[in-house]
Amino acid sequence: MTKESALPFIPFTRPSFDQATIDAVAEVLRSGWVTSGPKLAEFETALSEYFGGRPVRCFANGTATMKIALQVAGIGPGDEVITTPISWVATSNVILSVGATPVFVDIDPITRNIDLNKVANVITPKTRAIMPVYLAGLPVNMDHLYALAKEHGLRVIEDAAQAFGSQWHGQKIGSIGDLVSFSFQANKNLSTVEGGCLVLNNLEEAKLAEKFRLQGLTRQGMDGMDVEVLGGKDNLTDVNAVIGLHQLKQLPAFQARRSALAKQYFDVIRNELKAANLEHLKLELPVEDFTHSNWHMFQVLLPLDQLNIDRAQVMTELKDLGIGTGVHYPIITGFTLYQKLGYQTSSTPNAQRIGQSILTLPLFPGMADEDIGRIARSLIGILKNHLKK
Ligand SMILES: *Cc1c(COP(=O)(O)O)cnc(C)c1O
Repeated sequence: MTKESALPFIPFTRPSFDQATIDAVAEVLRSGWVTSGPKLAEFETALSEYFGGRPVRCFANGTATMKIALQVAGIGPGDEVITTPISWVATSNVILSVGATPVFVDIDPITRNIDLNKVANVITPKTRAIMPVYLAGLPVNMDHLYALAKEHGLRVIEDAAQAFGSQWHGQKIGSIGDLVSFSFQANKNLSTVEGGCLVLNNLEEAKLAEKFRLQGLTRQGMDGMDVEVLGGKDNLTDVNAVIGLHQLKQLPAFQARRSALAKQYFDVIRNELKAANLEHLKLELPVEDFTHSNWHMFQVLLPLDQLNIDRAQVMTELKDLGIGTGVHYPIITGFTLYQKLGYQTSSTPNAQRIGQSILTLPLFPGMADEDIGRIARSLIGILKNHLKK
């Protein structure tokens, strides 16, 4: 056992809920109204203000939010939706779940997001929408995205699950664009434990989203009810909403902390590589973007060609040193369901390579400065020990 293994375990992420949040949850529980009610309304209003006045509706999770976005856009059987193969599988699962067909475009190896230069090649008469994902909170080039959508008459459903707090040239992601979907799952920068929200274009879309959120129901007068569309049960509770209200207040502090930690990662990793005479190591760092990204994650690409171990072994050795890591994500088209549907990982070679080599290092507001040094030294030490001869 090394000395470092005696140090406390660092998970790859950890939510931050302060005492005021915990007290507010207790207050909702005692109030007599725990499901969707006044706190949800307050949260939706606060989110709408945050997004420059655009309508916002909340849902039980990010997956339901994206599915309802597709339904609001009227996407269903026979339609094609262009997306990325490097995402949480929810992205393409929701496309399948409304009966549409995901069309996967390779990623840019630097940003690790969908390569917008390759989108036009796959547009057919059936294409209805583009669903980009902002991996680790780094947006795509929004000017390029919306120029493409306009040129080809497509809807855009932004899977901004990881991009709450991200920006595009000084404008918040969500305050611009078409339908923009966020997740408030426990690992995200702003969390309601589970939850999500959709930024919409107008009140008509918002009304439709409300129907899809609750059994398709509309109410009139004291006792009138009608159901015109098939909706599910995807509402966000007041318990979750009150957590979101408190997280929203803390967001600037969370963001500042994430950025500061990410900056340290760049400095420390580069210094450690230099000190170990390992500058030839092809350990790829993320785009050094402190303008647009919200630093949802800090992900490296392992130089697997230069190592005599695989990613799983690197993760195991880090875990033995008390450091948690994650894989976000394996290539979606490699999953059995998608293979059975006829997708091939080889048609998107950048995604194929990056799905195998990407590794998420710990990054969350509650981390200590010295954790960064410990993680960087541990990772580089492991890589050095397993260099091919
Ligand atoms: C988290 C996430 C989702 C799904 O959100 P849930 O709230 O977990 O349903 C979808 N897409 C991406 C890229 C995500 O990171």
